[in-house]
Amino acid sequence: MTIDARKIRLLMALRQSGVTDTKVLAAIERVPREVFVPDAFQDQAWENTALPIELGQTISQPLVVGLMTQALELHPRHLVLEVGTGSGYQAAVLARLCRRVFTIERLKPLLGEAERRFRALGIDNITTRLGDGTRGWPEQAPFLRVLVTAAGGPEPPKDLTDQLAVGGVMLIPLGDGYHDQKVVRFRRTEDGLIREDLWPVRFVPLLSDPPQQVRSAS
Ligand code: SAH
Repeated sequence: MTIDARKIRLLMALRQSGVTDTKVLAAIERVPREVFVPDAFQDQAWENTALPIELGQTISQPLVVGLMTQALELHPRHLVLEVGTGSGYQAAVLARLCRRVFTIERLKPLLGEAERRFRALGIDNITTRLGDGTRGWPEQAPFLRVLVTAAGGPEPPKDLTDQLAVGGVMLIPLGDGYHDQKVVRFRRTEDGLIREDLWPVRFVPLLSDPPQQVRSAS
């Protein structure tokens, strides 16, 4: 089957599973997923499945990317914070639908690969950072849109909800373990946070790095 035939089959499957926003479908159609998938899995690049990337991490299932992107209710003017760059695929999809993506990854080799892919594809509205995304991106906060693509514990990291603007939407997989996660949508209103549990998912864990040791000069 040609890559175009696989692509059409995938887009039809996404539509049938609830990704109905034509802008989101068009973004998925135009981001070459094969560029974000390791050589060994090239034949599955347009299958509706999560795939392994380096260092035990994963590139998300296209359906999950589609549903989460749709649930984020993006506007072309939005600046989006993404936590968990991974392969860079989700960031590239977001970048087609908003003004700029700020994406944070804690594993340096993954971030380097993702940056290389963004350059190769001529994507110029993604800003990257190496570090612990649970701290957010204080210099750019507050954000109207936040997308976390690794699974937190039962509650979202406080720095992330603190950096969500009034009128803002944050999506984060939450749960106690790999088998019990849900995507949760938070909306910040004048009166506080509104929580809405969406669908079950399986993401790799969101890991917090220990606070930086203050090095004493000696
Ligand atoms: N969005 C990615 C998939 C993410 S996999 C894609 O489209 O390919 C989850 C990623 O989150 C992994 O790369 C993992 O290293 C990263 N991660 C986990 N905890 C993190 C943290 N505290 N800060 C930044 N990145 C984190």
